Amino acid sequence: MTSRNILVINCGSSSIKFALLDPAHSHFALSGLAERLGSPDAVLHWQQDGQKHSLNMPSADHRGALAQLLPRVEQAANGRLHGIGHRVVHGGEHFTQASRIDSASLAAIRSTAPLAPLHNPANLLGIEAALGLFPELPQVAVFDTAFHQSLPEHAYRYALPEVLYREHGVRRYGFHGTSHRYVSQRAAELSGLDPANSSWLSAHLGNGCSTCAIVNGQSRDTSMGLTPLEGLAMGTRSGDIDPNLFGHLSRTLGWSLEQTEHMLNHDSGLLGLSGLSNDMRSLEQASASGHPGATLAIEVFCYRLAKSLAAMSCALPQLDGLIFTGGIGENSALVRSKTLAHLRLLNLYLDDNANARCVRGESGAIQRAGHPRVLVIATNEERQIALDTLALLN
Ligand code: ADP
Repeated sequence: MTSRNILVINCGSSSIKFALLDPAHSHFALSGLAERLGSPDAVLHWQQDGQKHSLNMPSADHRGALAQLLPRVEQAANGRLHGIGHRVVHGGEHFTQASRIDSASLAAIRSTAPLAPLHNPANLLGIEAALGLFPELPQVAVFDTAFHQSLPEHAYRYALPEVLYREHGVRRYGFHGTSHRYVSQRAAELSGLDPANSSWLSAHLGNGCSTCAIVNGQSRDTSMGLTPLEGLAMGTRSGDIDPNLFGHLSRTLGWSLEQTEHMLNHDSGLLGLSGLSNDMRSLEQASASGHPGATLAIEVFCYRLAKSLAAMSCALPQLDGLIFTGGIGENSALVRSKTLAHLRLLNLYLDDNANARCVRGESGAIQRAGHPRVLVIATNEERQIALDTLALLN
């Protein structure tokens, strides 16, 4: 592979995560985060050659932050930046794969904003700022939802009146597609199997969490739905609840739609159950010192995860392996072991030593001999976005 420098950008409403990488190499030439954009405390943090740097840029917006970043990226790329890959959360039904950014794709991303009112407008801010600063450079959008456009209709439709789907796009879309795609390909490579002829369960467990069933390189089912709230218990999100909760809280407590929505997205999950933290590492420590809320939060998290994986297995013709990824999946031997204890019917058992070894970036197989594969694989969404960007530039 000849040397190609791709800048990967992930824009939130007040932040930009970025990484400069050449997909031929495993390390990032430059990476970092601009945060608190639009406020007096806006700041740019970046890492280069093992050194950490920071720059205050009071009141800088997305464009201001990218303008500060540009000379550093060009210097790190020796003046040869080949393209920019943007993470875009929602591609609706329009995008089944990554897309070159032009006026038609921009309009389609804009028209999808009602499905992701917090995320897509923020992603667009980054795209528009980058187009303004690098008008000559090819730019590509890579969607969290695109990988799941291969779901069969019986997996993506809700049991709701058809008009809601047909006229308003109410269906399951799924998220974390870039991560599930990347780790399932890596799993096949590491196992000496053909990605186009193998079946995987994948659990991406970060602050947001989702499971996915992948058959022959295609997503066949996933736990998130219309929005990233559906499915597993997560850091601050409830995951599945009885939808009648909205009416119940309105009638009994007088809660508004917005109050319940806020509680489900920001005050629930590990944080709500434990009353302590949304952070699994903190909860493991608290549970070890006897905090009952932390213990309960971990138990619920693992049981719900196991139930979701068992449900996903309905979409597989055979199981070539289960993959754990994301901050919790890559680091928590406790979560992996508690989850698998609920999945004996799938014949999944761990080798305790291998499980304990796979933490802090150590990937590998952790199943007990003679049982189905269980793999810990570090996700690398930036690398997948860079590869997708490169594929479209070529
Ligand atoms: P994001 O979704 O924001 O990218 P990450 O993938 O970084 O999040 O995952 C964050 C989660 O991973 C947090 O709950 C954090 O506590 C957990 N985590 C990271 N390291 C460990 C560890 N050593 N043990 C348990 N949990 C960990």
